[in-house]
Amino acid sequence: MVSIRQKLLGWYDETARDLPWRQTRDPYAIWVSEVMLQQTRVDTVIPYYERFLASFPTPKDLADADEDAVLSHWSGLGYYRRARLLHAGVREVVAQYGGQVPEDAEARRALPGVGRYTAGAIGSIAFDKEEPIVDGNVTRVLARLFRISTPVGSSVTSKRVWEEAARLVPGARPGVFNQALMELGATVCTPKQPSCESCPVAEHCDARAQGEVDALPVPRVRKAPDQVKLAAVVATQGRGPEARVWLLRSEQSLFAGLWGLPMIPRSAFDLSDARGALRDAGISASLGREPIGQLHHVLTHRRMQIDVFRATGAKAETSETRRLFRTDDLVSVGVSTLTKKLLASALS
Ligand code: SF4
Repeated sequence: MVSIRQKLLGWYDETARDLPWRQTRDPYAIWVSEVMLQQTRVDTVIPYYERFLASFPTPKDLADADEDAVLSHWSGLGYYRRARLLHAGVREVVAQYGGQVPEDAEARRALPGVGRYTAGAIGSIAFDKEEPIVDGNVTRVLARLFRISTPVGSSVTSKRVWEEAARLVPGARPGVFNQALMELGATVCTPKQPSCESCPVAEHCDARAQGEVDALPVPRVRKAPDQVKLAAVVATQGRGPEARVWLLRSEQSLFAGLWGLPMIPRSAFDLSDARGALRDAGISASLGREPIGQLHHVLTHRRMQIDVFRATGAKAETSETRRLFRTDDLVSVGVSTLTKKLLASALS
């Protein structure tokens, strides 16, 4: 009988989507693509990937870049921690390995931000190593193929899925096989209404044989997102087209490393929260009495409701973490999508 492996490879050779990172075996480019693709859709990633590699074509170029330049290329992709870890990992590759991503699996896994998945993707695709990779798509396919009925995200499921992936990967073209498994999950074995009738491995599928396709994988138990109320202050100096806005660089917040507006959790609906945000930021300004608007922003585990205040005549000492920016200049520094939305709502 033709194995799952052979069938998947044959199917992938005929049907694979033509994506830019599939035209390279450069471990650095594959690393960049894999980090961008975590939590982000393929269509969204393509232009970011192309721009990023055009600006930083080699590990040395990325290692030499300052953080603002790196984050500005990431602005809009979200999960900025990924970008900072990629930057740190690539700097280590340049410092320790002369700019060559190491072939050795242990050395790859020791790099900042390189977990089992990313290490396996680089190892199998760039170096032809028989290393498994497991992401959401692979988990779904394997849970159905092997009728794994414990919840996604549990340690039992994770262990079993990695074991099955490791059992399947040895053989010819391990990197292509891993991509085929992910591609099957992305295009055929989809979360809803998978196309079992056109699936190349349907005859091996235990979930299909048992009529359990719709019941698998068993979803993870999800926590409701936290609701957070915040006050943000758009504090400007000057007027009209010459107006500049004070931004802070936070090292602690969710958006660590990015420039953002002074922001503080709201305890009650009065001005003191916005005053507190300005005071904590070391900015003196004339603060409007009422919020000028309210904005909602959703992150994976957080639903944010933000009252936006306006302050004018803002003065402060410039420092490493506090600077005045012209709004036109923000395209070249790292600011989050949330900051852009807040500025647009306040300055339009
Ligand atoms: S037969 Fe259906 S459920 Fe099974 S692997 Fe193929 S698409 Fe997924």
